Amino acid sequence: AIMLLGAALGALVALIGIDFRRRDQSLMARLSRALAREEVMVLYQPVVNVADGRIVGAEALVRWQSNGDFVPPDIFTAIAEQKGMAGRITRYVLDHVIDEMGGTLRQHEDFRVNINIVASDLKDPKFFAALDEGLRHAGLKPYQIGIELTERSTADSSAAIEGIAELRSRGHVVYIDDFGTGYSSLSYLGELKVDVLKMDRAFTRTVGTDAVTVSIVPQIIDMAIKHHLAIVVEGIETEAQAAYFRNLPVHVMGQGWYYGKPVPAGTLKRLLERQDGIAAPGKGRGKSRP
Ligand code: C2E
Ligand code: MG
Ligand code: MG
Ligand code: MG
Repeated sequence: AIMLLGAALGALVALIGIDFRRRDQSLMARLSRALAREEVMVLYQPVVNVADGRIVGAEALVRWQSNGDFVPPDIFTAIAEQKGMAGRITRYVLDHVIDEMGGTLRQHEDFRVNINIVASDLKDPKFFAALDEGLRHAGLKPYQIGIELTERSTADSSAAIEGIAELRSRGHVVYIDDFGTGYSSLSYLGELKVDVLKMDRAFTRTVGTDAVTVSIVPQIIDMAIKHHLAIVVEGIETEAQAAYFRNLPVHVMGQGWYYGKPVPAGTLKRLLERQDGIAAPGKGRGKSRP
């Protein structure tokens, strides 16, 4: 009887497994079609200097609605990664960034748009070629396209580490994304040869609360300084959080709903124009509030 039960359980588990695989496969088939039909959108979330709220860059984020339902990007990008389809998303986003933001980037030499890539991109010569060609074609500087990678995707192999080194030698700025959520300890940061640390919003959330984890925020910041990394704080949602990071002795960049949600390229451009207007000589230097 126990064996029978075991067999039945095994069959059930196998069935659920197959079901998940089928569901993922059909999701990927739909994603593939959506990419081909240009139905996937790219939104841009402002990255600001926390000191004055000025927009200094943006992060490109994919948006996909399938049959009227919004599919969360972290879900479908993770499945795409498993199915070997993540490279197509990366390529799609890169092409759209260059297309939609190329003119703005040429106008603003110190402006930067970040893309999120996955570990497999780091081993893909086609990714490097596309990046190179895209920049050349649009007349952009390599540092204007920032590259974001999660801790997880950097830890796994020497190929990943080589890929990061290659990106940096080409002049790209490399970001370690969602820092603090990975498996590694904070001290591991010294081994990662990157330029910017993006502190995960899980830590930002603890600011102003009495959660024990609140003490991790200064630890992460100290660690970044020690390793000469710039800092982007993710998920700033409130004035209290903004004030906390504004009042740190060290300069940080920030991203979050307090400064701006992800928006279409046209909206981001209008925000930049408004900001340029404020900064223009003769018009006075109004304190640029987000
Ligand atoms: P991420 O790279 O850490 O992106 C930041 C996420 O935080 C975005 O979610 C953004 O909308 C969200 N966010 C920003 N500010 C706030 C805030 O103040 N409060 C809260 N609660 N959330 C905030 P999104 O767009 O849903 O993306 C989720 C994740 O999906 C991304 O995390 C990234 O890992 C992945 N992803 C998105 N676009 C791409 C892409 O083009 N390629 C790849 N490989 N992954 C992507
Ligand atoms: Mg990111
Ligand atoms: Mg992040
Ligand atoms: Mg995140």
